[in-house]
Amino acid sequence: MSRLWPDEERKLIKSGRKWSESAYLPYRYAELYCECCGVSLGRHDIVFTNLQTTMFCGKCVQRYRTETPFQLAKDIAVVFDAGAFVDVKYSDGLCVEMTVSKTCYFNSKGRFIKIKGKRYYLNHMPLPEPPKEE
Ligand SMILES: [Zn+2]
Repeated sequence: MSRLWPDEERKLIKSGRKWSESAYLPYRYAELYCECCGVSLGRHDIVFTNLQTTMFCGKCVQRYRTETPFQLAKDIAVVFDAGAFVDVKYSDGLCVEMTVSKTCYFNSKGRFIKIKGKRYYLNHMPLPEPPKEE
């Protein structure tokens, strides 16, 4: 039995993430691990953590980076790509251009960002295979 609040433990189990208990605030914090290489990503407050964002270490997230700028949709251009987040430039329909930083989310289909509730896939690279058990 973990000491996590049941809702937070369910969230972790449902996400399929690699995690372990944290000695610090064990009812709401857990240690998360990179889904690719397994390195520790530190303790996270699971109440406020979107488990589709903090998935990869700085090294592994680099494989998702693409060359910028590129056009994502008619009014949306990606001007900077850091792997875990991108800067997008878009017009709000009133001919006003804005550059906004967007957090990247990851799922089995690849990497995406959310703009006004809509998902935009940046690349369809699937999640890396978990390491094989010896
Ligand atoms: Zn990694």
